[in-house]
Amino acid sequence: MLILEKFDEYTKVEVLRELKHLYKKINELKEDQKNFRKLSKAVEQSPVSVLITDYKGNIEYVNPKFSIVTGYTLEEVFGKNPRIFSSGRTSLSEYKNLWDTINSGGEWIGEFLNKRKNGDLFWENASISPIKNESGSTTHFVAIKEDITQRKIIEAELKEAKSKAEEMNKIKSIFLANMSHELRTPLTGVMGFASLLSDELTDPYLKEMANIILQSTMRLTETVNSILDLSKIEAEKLTLKISRVNLAEVVKNIADQFKQTAKEKNIFLDIVVRNDNSIAELDKSLVVQIIKNLIQNAVKFTSKGGVAVEIERIKINSKSFVEVRVVDTGIGIDQKNFAKIFEPFRQVSEGLNRGYEGPGLGLTITKKYVELLHGEIFVESNIKLGSKFIVRFPTVVERKLLGKKNIEPENQLDISKGSNESTSSNLLIVEDDELNRSTIEHYLKNFYNFESVSSGESAVKVVKKKKYDIILMDIALKGMSGLEAAQLIKKVPGNQNIPIVAVTAYAMIGDKERLLKGGCTHYLAKPFTQTSLLSLIKSILK
Ligand code: ADP
Repeated sequence: MLILEKFDEYTKVEVLRELKHLYKKINELKEDQKNFRKLSKAVEQSPVSVLITDYKGNIEYVNPKFSIVTGYTLEEVFGKNPRIFSSGRTSLSEYKNLWDTINSGGEWIGEFLNKRKNGDLFWENASISPIKNESGSTTHFVAIKEDITQRKIIEAELKEAKSKAEEMNKIKSIFLANMSHELRTPLTGVMGFASLLSDELTDPYLKEMANIILQSTMRLTETVNSILDLSKIEAEKLTLKISRVNLAEVVKNIADQFKQTAKEKNIFLDIVVRNDNSIAELDKSLVVQIIKNLIQNAVKFTSKGGVAVEIERIKINSKSFVEVRVVDTGIGIDQKNFAKIFEPFRQVSEGLNRGYEGPGLGLTITKKYVELLHGEIFVESNIKLGSKFIVRFPTVVERKLLGKKNIEPENQLDISKGSNESTSSNLLIVEDDELNRSTIEHYLKNFYNFESVSSGESAVKVVKKKKYDIILMDIALKGMSGLEAAQLIKKVPGNQNIPIVAVTAYAMIGDKERLLKGGCTHYLAKPFTQTSLLSLIKSILK
């Protein structure tokens, strides 16, 4: 300030202004330095590798993480081209694409398989982009890279595990298809004759025996069906048939089937309809299965008191639902087992000393069906006091959720028995298994005229001589298969439109479609009851 006193006023002002300007510049530089330190610390301490090259691609900087990942220090790589890390596995066209992208000012993102200093290969995910100066020309390139070797190993393991699982699933499907065929064929005979015996026999002791055979076969058929149902859901091949379902009515019908068992166990089975409207848009066959499984379990696990089924229309957040609550006073379920009981093949009591029979599939299928219908299922239970299974069905189906291709209009068959006018119709049975053939013959004898042959070849021969109204065709025939026979029969003049029912133990997903495409017009899975055979024939002759 003393120096300033020597200047005149004008110079003083000028010098002061200049000093102020310098002071501001110094502060700005200080601030820049602070920012620079902050940024370089961030780069140095970054958990990802950072590499900077000049515009020709020669390395000018690498951060410590880069050295940890590659094993090279900055001194070792300074001035070199990043191609020293190349494993030789990246194609020239990929490098060309990289350079084209960054030279035209863009950011390149991709993966490299590179080589560390010790020769080990490693995977990197890289983002490379140009750094430009104020005039817009590229001065440097910056690469930010992440070591993704571990992720790649896990991905490869997952891929392998997935393909193994798919392979296992294929084997499972083949096994199920074979088992289904092997179990259904003999079941048709056993079920058919047991039901005929139970109708014909008058001796109560023998009748009882026939009934036990019939019930056991039905149980076995149910188990086979449950396993098939589950595999159908798992393969996501289930077609929903949506219609307006009266839940109170469904519950009443199902409960009727269990009235006798409840009476024998000396327990009550009540239905409580809380309000009038219990109609919802659902797939009736799934709903029947859901409610049947729940009532069946409730009756099975209750030996004192009884079972009450409540139906109530409720509103939650202005959305309407019908709730079906199956409440029992049975053995109850420990809370720790709530999740387990919905898993396939699981039961609360398992192992050799398990207390109750059953395949452990009922609740698994029930839950999957409820979810397919966009409903919810809950369980509340106390050990020794009883259980409450609550199913909440939405009343209106949201079609966009279901997906159009999975919805079919409901197509219910009239299952009343064949009428007398039907006897004028002529049927041809093609079946090489004697037991199955005579079961079908017994089923039809009071209702239709029929003839039987035991091979596809004979079937083709007889249709040339006589006109039939329906052909019941076994598929797995020895010699000419049922499908080949069906195709040849259709070529016989006058038979182009003859109904051919594939009567088969191939009841796996896709089998029906395959047979219908291959020349058959209808499909009946073995084992079948007399009612289902007659109702199918009736619907065809209509
Ligand atoms: P299962 O075919 O063996 O009956 P589920 O999947 O229907 O199989 O049921 C699984 C298990 O859940 C049963 O074995 C039983 O331990 C338990 N469970 C189901 N319903 C009830 C119930 N109402 N009361 C007590 N336990 C039940």
